[in-house]
Amino acid sequence: MLFDTHVHLIGPRFDEDRAAVLERARAAGLFGVVEIADAPADWERALALAAAHPGFVHCALGLHPYHADEWRPELAAKLAAAARRPGVVAAGEVGLDYAKYEVPRPRQMEAFLGMLAAAEAAGLPVVIHCREAYADLMPVLRARFPARPKVGRFHGVVHCFSGNAEEAAECAALGFALGADGPVTYPKNDALRSALKGAGLASLVLETDSPWLPPQAKRGKRCEPADVADVAARLADVFGLPEKELARVTLGNARELYRL
Ligand SMILES: [Zn+2]
Ligand SMILES: [Zn+2]
Repeated sequence: MLFDTHVHLIGPRFDEDRAAVLERARAAGLFGVVEIADAPADWERALALAAAHPGFVHCALGLHPYHADEWRPELAAKLAAAARRPGVVAAGEVGLDYAKYEVPRPRQMEAFLGMLAAAEAAGLPVVIHCREAYADLMPVLRARFPARPKVGRFHGVVHCFSGNAEEAAECAALGFALGADGPVTYPKNDALRSALKGAGLASLVLETDSPWLPPQAKRGKRCEPADVADVAARLADVFGLPEKELARVTLGNARELYRL
């Protein structure tokens, strides 16, 4: 059984066939998916999707760095209230994106720190997004998450991990899971595969970031949760394990991450 720990199914690219996509995910033997809401305006729709598929679709409520200019301190109370609703398993995604940033870096950092504090107050693990910003992310993780997590092994996950081997090992040591998706199947990404292997199987979780980041076999096309099988197959090869064993361990990691 596989668990797609990071999807965006409420967007328009799934308007035509959202139910069929979820049916294919079930048919592919997925344990479930976590719908990630990028902005407060999307939180209700993510909650509704989770409510419509109880036990299969879970959700995380966040403020993507693209939306960092929407950060207001009142969001902390909104998150704390929403955290008690059925299906909510995390806060996020939140973080830093210096690759395609529309919001200035100091404002991104302010929003990120605000949402981390809000997640902690709400008692939720965090889903972190980081693109070309690991030099600024790592000091935040060191300063804010020095001790062991209060619940389980993970404070949260650095989704679509794209840092180097040293950063992978340190994220894992600080109590963060590392999310792997389509890019681990791309031929040129040897450094990424070896960074994930170096950080260890105990920190690995699988995702697709659907509709983004399709695996190699579907490049240029829309990605969907069932495609997590391609990510699992490639990583089983990287870790030198049967696919069943990689699936078993990563499912356990994901359940611990999201407390399911
Ligand atoms: Zn992301
Ligand atoms: Zn995402």
